[in-house]
Amino acid sequence: MARGPSPEGTVEALAHFSGVQPSHSGSRQILGSSAGLRTCFAPRLACALFVHCFELIACARTIKLPRSMRMIKASVLDQFKAPLKMREYPAPEQPEAGAALVRTEMAGICGTDVHLWKGELPILLPVILGHETVGRVEQLGDGLDRDWTGQPLKAGDRVTWNSATSCGQCYYCTEKRQPTRCPQRRAYGIGYRCDQPPHLLGGYAEFHYLRPRTTIFKLPDDLPTESVIGAGCALITAIHGVERTGLAWGDIVVVQGAGPVGISALAVAKSAGAAQAIVIGGPKHRLEMAKRFGADHTIDIADVKEPDARIAAVRDLTRGFGADAVLECVGSPAAVVEGMEMCRDGGKYLVLGHYCDAGNVSFNPHVMTRKQLQVFGSWSSEPRHLKAAIEFLRANQSEFPFHQMVTHRFQLANANEALATTARWESAKSVLVPNNAPESG
Ligand SMILES: [Zn+2]
Ligand SMILES: [Zn+2]
Repeated sequence: MARGPSPEGTVEALAHFSGVQPSHSGSRQILGSSAGLRTCFAPRLACALFVHCFELIACARTIKLPRSMRMIKASVLDQFKAPLKMREYPAPEQPEAGAALVRTEMAGICGTDVHLWKGELPILLPVILGHETVGRVEQLGDGLDRDWTGQPLKAGDRVTWNSATSCGQCYYCTEKRQPTRCPQRRAYGIGYRCDQPPHLLGGYAEFHYLRPRTTIFKLPDDLPTESVIGAGCALITAIHGVERTGLAWGDIVVVQGAGPVGISALAVAKSAGAAQAIVIGGPKHRLEMAKRFGADHTIDIADVKEPDARIAAVRDLTRGFGADAVLECVGSPAAVVEGMEMCRDGGKYLVLGHYCDAGNVSFNPHVMTRKQLQVFGSWSSEPRHLKAAIEFLRANQSEFPFHQMVTHRFQLANANEALATTARWESAKSVLVPNNAPESG
């Protein structure tokens, strides 16, 4: 993961793990936005970043600020590779029509946040990080009275949301039904500067502002917040990726990587009917978590250091044929070369872990032809995947204990420590609890 991303890849990466208002859900739209509020985050056009600045300024005109200026604490990335700093921003007195103000209950630290902190994506600073968040509705703007599924929404409800919204009108949103490739997507905690109103557009803060057309989901009372954040953006990403790959019941599946995306892909593959799941990764505590999530075999990269030895180990476990499907959840280019060799002939390979541009790799395309491989890519997720994830989490709390992924809790002021534990792979999942004292960590 040494190389910096290309500008093109970077701009696309900024839309990471975002939510969509697909065209088919028009009847469930929370509120149509005015043209002036729509973002135009165009991939392949670096200048689009600057267009957003002007749009945010336009947006700010619609938000009333209170006379008392209630100030909200946030942990802010204002310089790459430097400690996050505590800042205060004014809360809007009343959210604009279709928007909401939410009191942050828990914010997940995603591996992408570490990449952002390191400056591996040239985002505009300052930014409030955090694109995996649960909170309680504080205030609702006019016209916002239901969540994406149609459930009534009121102050005090516990909610989560997709981190970004697609336009619902473009070529990809409508004609090609690939809304995750909408050029106008832009993610909370990544693509919004916080020095301009409405400021509070990331999870590392006491409150989060939800812009009009955000796809909001009311959480059922019997689903712990820890389950939702423990799953984070990884589960919805994995649901989308496995959906695109199309696993068959009884498949033998290899998951490369035992981080949050790998654990999520494992859970989705097992629930999709995988007869055998082999997880390759490390360190040991992550592989132990994989076993808790139903891994039939684990291969520790610290013990089996050579790719050829890992390929041989997979073949040994699959009667010499290789796996029906291999799911890459690593983000390392070399893992892709290795993983394709782990597929059986006619098998499937999913490249799911490359949200950052980690550079090139040399490989022999003959492998794909000879093995008759089907290769898939998958980017982010749609609102329907978040809906499915909430139902999945609620129904499988004992079989897939995502709440146990939350191993490290931090107060907002300790966000740097939270990022560091994630960067060092010490935690399964580190979280911030901006409005509560930490219970551990
Ligand atoms: Zn993420
Ligand atoms: Zn679109």
